[in-house]
Amino acid sequence: MKEILCLTILVETSPQALPLGAACIASAIKNHAALKNYKVSLEAFSVEDKELAEKSEDERAGLLAEKILSLHKDLSALLFSVYVWNRKILEKLALILKEKNPSIITIAGGPEVTANPLSFSSFDYLSAGAGEVSSPALLARLLENQEYEDKSPEENPQGFAFGIQGIYENPYLNKSEKNSSDLQTNFTAESLLGHRALSVKMPLVVRSKNPDPAELSSPYLDATLDPQKYGGVLWELARGCPFKCSYCYESKGEKRIQHFPKERLLNELEYFAEKKIPQVFVLDPTYNADKKRALEMLKTIKKIAPDMFFYFEARAEFIDRELARAFAEINCSLQFGLQSADVEVLKKVNRTFDKKLFVRNIGFLNQAGAVFGFDLIYGLPGDTFNGFKNSIDFAMSLYPNNLELFCLSVLPGTQLYEEAESLGLTWQALPPYHVVDSVSFPGPELKRADSLAAACDFFYNCGRAVPWFNSVARSLHLKASAIFGEFAVWAEKMKIDLKKTPADNDYILKCQLDFLQEAYKKRNQQKSFFLAKDLLLLNGAISEATASGRESTVKLTYHPDDLMSEYSQDFSFFLKNARPFNCRVKVFCGKNGVDYKVLK
Ligand code: SF4
Repeated sequence: MKEILCLTILVETSPQALPLGAACIASAIKNHAALKNYKVSLEAFSVEDKELAEKSEDERAGLLAEKILSLHKDLSALLFSVYVWNRKILEKLALILKEKNPSIITIAGGPEVTANPLSFSSFDYLSAGAGEVSSPALLARLLENQEYEDKSPEENPQGFAFGIQGIYENPYLNKSEKNSSDLQTNFTAESLLGHRALSVKMPLVVRSKNPDPAELSSPYLDATLDPQKYGGVLWELARGCPFKCSYCYESKGEKRIQHFPKERLLNELEYFAEKKIPQVFVLDPTYNADKKRALEMLKTIKKIAPDMFFYFEARAEFIDRELARAFAEINCSLQFGLQSADVEVLKKVNRTFDKKLFVRNIGFLNQAGAVFGFDLIYGLPGDTFNGFKNSIDFAMSLYPNNLELFCLSVLPGTQLYEEAESLGLTWQALPPYHVVDSVSFPGPELKRADSLAAACDFFYNCGRAVPWFNSVARSLHLKASAIFGEFAVWAEKMKIDLKKTPADNDYILKCQLDFLQEAYKKRNQQKSFFLAKDLLLLNGAISEATASGRESTVKLTYHPDDLMSEYSQDFSFFLKNARPFNCRVKVFCGKNGVDYKVLK
């Protein structure tokens, strides 16, 4: 049976990395009447796959080509889902496959293609925008000669292939040799320059029309995507975003929010619950913008999937007491794109920020006991290294469960890409398009921000430091950003690569304790170190028992009840008033959750 394969390479191997885009296209192809006689398959590799790791891009592409051709013997067409992280390898892969079997039709789509389809030379066709309608239509036209309202050149001034909106033919094909190589050389020369990429002018790209979500099939419910294979699912609740942050692909996308029908979402949720999926990553950038809808869904989740863990992206300005309580009642974590705490910096990327409202609404989450985290971006136009540190300190003062620090990417196809040069930014011409220099945030300071990001991830996020971080910082008279800075310097001295996230919690704990011992010693605060050590050991054991059920015993200098009291938040008060109590404490999972027992 002839086969159509949808393919992608995932950024990592994790419960959050699923080939949802490729699966949506595969599902739409399966449901297209003219393509019923084709076997439709989905293939997803990960850059972290053992056989691909530590290989050159050429070797990886060669390996994948062999694998694909041996697994899929009768391929008619191959559709690639292209993202920032897989663009280079998928382009190489497409060229190898085409060389080995010129009859295979290659089509590329995804965010990278949507941004600038005409910068691609390795695929036969490029699909800009959502491909669920346009890609099957193109395949039906190419494989089954099905007419698609073929238009005259006057009716099709954008030059869509076969008049299908959003579909472009490879611009390098059907050109004279000279022109073709000229175009290629231009692009490569720009790429090698590495920095200012603005001279790669973007043509006006018209995307395919957004399909009505009610007409789309679910890749989970039609068995295109196995929810059990990845340890988690991406659950698409809505498409489109009414905001227009200039660095985001959505800034030029659909402003209208299109929700998937409630019935489909209910069926998917029941299916995930039946399959006992542990984690669900909700795709809806403004989940809580519609309060009524958000509350209704949280109620449904509580009823149908009380044991699953949900990750939401939410907007802080729409959080109120009622929503905070509803989030706290289910197993979930909310992520807020704070990006910066500087109103002027945010203005430059089309974002508004009301600090007082933000603090108040995050306070509702803390009062309700909901789990949440923040994202910050460094390198935003107009931002400075000091400004970025202030943003870290502001974010950390609100007790987030995690703080993710990202370097700004100037993504082709975004509004920022068009304005970046005039805003004084210099960035990589190739993925991931990171800013490498800016008028206000020079290159060396971006590197320091990079170190802070790695230190924060290691020390705070992976180090499960939420319960003790702010009290330790206060006792050291250091701001959060200063702790991360000192930790980065210490790690460099100890030759610890903070960018390699260690899987071992004991190793992270040891690094935290070694660093803090030195930091307190330097300030002649040894007593404070013993208190900090107790807090790290006890909270570490509790986190371990909560996450994995592992029982452990820790040796403490103070009584665990004293350590768990609010007084331990104030080191000087605690050290003046608490009596030392050397003990061994067993931490375990009891009938009512995690508990501890003093063994003496
Ligand atoms: S960053 Fe988030 S809020 Fe801003 S445009 Fe993109 S999806 Fe919308």
